[in-house]
Amino acid sequence: MDLLLNKNAIITGAARGIGKSIAMKFASEGANVAIIDIAPDDILNETVNEISGFNIVCKGYNADVTNAQQVETIINEIAKDFGKINILVNNAGITRDNLLIRMKEEDWDKVINVNLKSVFVMSKAIQPFMIHQRSGTIINISSVVGIAGNAGQTNYSASKAGIIGFTKSLAKEIGSRNIRCNAIAPGFVETEMTKQLPEEVIKQYTQIIPLKRPAKPEDIANAAVFLASDMSSYITGQVIHVCGGMLT
Ligand code: NAD
Repeated sequence: MDLLLNKNAIITGAARGIGKSIAMKFASEGANVAIIDIAPDDILNETVNEISGFNIVCKGYNADVTNAQQVETIINEIAKDFGKINILVNNAGITRDNLLIRMKEEDWDKVINVNLKSVFVMSKAIQPFMIHQRSGTIINISSVVGIAGNAGQTNYSASKAGIIGFTKSLAKEIGSRNIRCNAIAPGFVETEMTKQLPEEVIKQYTQIIPLKRPAKPEDIANAAVFLASDMSSYITGQVIHVCGGMLT
């Protein structure tokens, strides 16, 4: 299929996990892909080579999405390399879980910066290009815990809830310029991020998911393709739950 033919997409945190899967699906739908990640060069290059196999243009850019100056430089470089920028996926994210009483201030700050400030930094840097084109779509990766909450994740849940407020506000701000902004709230997804969890916790999650299995990164990527494509051209300011029915 060619749902994203000739579109140019920027995806953050796409060296691995959900971001990589989104990049692969976008490429398989004909999009050119720019990946921004802090992953070591060998990992980033391996991903770029894999995605380039889809016969589209794929390039990797090493940058920290919390650093506004680095991001501005990289976005200008991407605009030179790719021309127009049609799609932005704010996917980069981390966890630093702990009960609030034991949570270090630096773990609060780090999670809020990587998960939420990055969405502000990236979306702001991309604005002039999308406004000039009078088109574009932004997809922010939130989480079901940003809606329902989760013990041990006050920092992470706050960052993901913040993304939802950001998404709804920006959608209202830029809709008149033909730019859409939506969020995806994944449930429990099998990636390196969740591999760290004890086997028992993974079992408990699986039991409470009505579809009785964790999500694969591709489940999230399919929703991202929909939101990036013209099939969702009348959808903005929304949060799509991709969680196997975990949250209704
Ligand atoms: P992951 O840890 O496998 O991948 C995250 C990627 O982000 C890595 O490649 C990492 O290098 C990159 N990254 C981290 N900090 C960065 C920074 N400052 N600048 C640039 N890149 C940075 O994680 P994942 O499971 O694929 O998660 C992807 C997104 O989905 C995250 O926002 C996460 O919060 C969200 N999410 C994941 C789950 C899940 O169960 N895995 C559930 C809901 C939401």
